[in-house]
Amino acid sequence: MIITVTKRFDFAMAHRLSDYKGKCEHLHGHNYQLEVTVGGDSLNEQGMVIDFGELKKIVNENVVELFDHRTLLKKGDKKNEAIGKALKGELDICWVDYNPTAENMLNDIFARLEGPLFALSCFIMTIRLYETESSYAEINPFFELVEDDGIEGGGLEENELDEAGLPLNREGTVSELYGNDFKLKKDTIH
Ligand SMILES: [Zn+2]
Repeated sequence: MIITVTKRFDFAMAHRLSDYKGKCEHLHGHNYQLEVTVGGDSLNEQGMVIDFGELKKIVNENVVELFDHRTLLKKGDKKNEAIGKALKGELDICWVDYNPTAENMLNDIFARLEGPLFALSCFIMTIRLYETESSYAEINPFFELVEDDGIEGGGLEENELDEAGLPLNREGTVSELYGNDFKLKKDTIH
């Protein structure tokens, strides 16, 4: 059994999509909602997976403060560079090496939160990023796409869990979870 806790965050951010034809190629903004769900295989002495205050601090310092009221643009895109020059001093641009879709932002957010949460013996179960009230992307490090023998394209399969509620095919043992070298299989994240 695993107990999880979830905290929701809000931030406003502008972006435009590169290599894209449609409304989203134009500079525009969203009020994003971010939901971070964290689990642990045991509760701490206070009976918590993680103190909500700690979770708030980690997500605010590593994610919200980075994106809030800024403009996320992909580096190396000619139109973005022109926007950067024309609106110098007007926009607070955060240059990234990815197209700023909700999915790519999730990968970035996961990488920023993974370490600080592991340091508190917690792991990320899911992160959900709402771009609008009705549209969200979600990252789930405990799912992976597998090749099914004879079935084209494979399928989505949930990892089996051991007695501690941790995925059996994770990299590392339960004891390593608390060591510095524990690493989730990042390449399985979509
Ligand atoms: Zn958008």
